[in-house]
Amino acid sequence: MTALRIGDRRIRPGKILCVARNYAEHARESGGEVPPQPVFFLKPTTALIESGRTIFLPPESTRVEEECELAVVIGKEGRDVPRDRAMTLVLGYAVFLDITARDLQARAREAGLPWTAAKGFDTFGPISPITPAKDVGDPHGLAIRLEVNGEPAQVGNTREMVHKVPDLIAHASRIMTLERGDVLATGTPAGVREIRDGDVLSGTIERVGRVEANVARKV
Ligand code: MG
Repeated sequence: MTALRIGDRRIRPGKILCVARNYAEHARESGGEVPPQPVFFLKPTTALIESGRTIFLPPESTRVEEECELAVVIGKEGRDVPRDRAMTLVLGYAVFLDITARDLQARAREAGLPWTAAKGFDTFGPISPITPAKDVGDPHGLAIRLEVNGEPAQVGNTREMVHKVPDLIAHASRIMTLERGDVLATGTPAGVREIRDGDVLSGTIERVGRVEANVARKV
């Protein structure tokens, strides 16, 4: 399993908790609104790959898309954490790509079925090394950008997040205990696009870092 890197240390990843539709523009482009309460789904840790590795397009899907997101990495355990203490749980931040088989997701959504396959293929979670929280400061004013083959696709700012990091931690920790090594992906801005065999992705977030990935068809 791919470990999370922070400096020269390694952290075993816990769960990956993702937020659906947390930027208004992206919610609109995917045909909906931002829900009044955060909506979470899980992605398996086996999806994680380090920066510079390859995303494999599975034969089960004909349309895979990228979603560039700010990931919060949890440093200590918390359950029912109040909003005003939520940031004390944060170890650091990373750039995360929530790779999605959009056709499988649309089919699942229509049938009222879970997104497990759409979000869960191996290699569907490229992640950058972690930058310590103290080096990032406020996570809500950071330029976020994803380029495909050097062309800008997603250009946004984390201030556009509807449910902010402390709210996400507070809500999530009412459902499940957050543990050291857990990754909380905070949603993606507008501009998600299809990725194809041979593409090169580069996601950057100001003060956090960069994640790069190549795309190849799985044979
Ligand atoms: Mg996402």
